[in-house]
Amino acid sequence: MMKRIFLFLFLSAFVFAQSQENKPMKDKPDSTNKKAHKVFKTDADWQSCLTPEQFYVTRQKGTERPFSGKYYDYWEEGAYVCVACGAELFTSKTKYHSGSGWPSFWDVAIKESVELKKDTSLGLSRTEVLCSKCGAHLGHVFEDGPPPTGLRYCINSAALNFVPDKTKAA
Ligand SMILES: [Zn+2]
Repeated sequence: MMKRIFLFLFLSAFVFAQSQENKPMKDKPDSTNKKAHKVFKTDADWQSCLTPEQFYVTRQKGTERPFSGKYYDYWEEGAYVCVACGAELFTSKTKYHSGSGWPSFWDVAIKESVELKKDTSLGLSRTEVLCSKCGAHLGHVFEDGPPPTGLRYCINSAALNFVPDKTKAA
């Protein structure tokens, strides 16, 4: 009789241990929002998925001619995403008419979505704006924008893709 009880206890303990082992693991912390560029491609890869102008602006830090881009005088409601990786960068809510000939925003959509870098090219001291997900050059930010930030994100149309606000389209 005692043997049976011991056997029963032993088996119960065994089954309990197994059930503990099979417990689902807790979800790992989301690591998709790290600072380093999540999207990395070679120039050849970028060239194959971007137009020559998009490649020139985003990977070679080019600037489109003023009043030439498709979004400088574009006022639909929606989001502006990175043309290279699709990350949301700006929204129509902070877009304003600066008269510069380039799409201008007084703020970014999500602070972490852009990276700022000192740029002393062309003998000027400017602050370059890059996509923090893929490192695409977007444009520059100046301190002559409207309230509430006083900033002017001067961004190339060629670095952006517009995504209409679906809630407004209905
Ligand atoms: Zn990007």
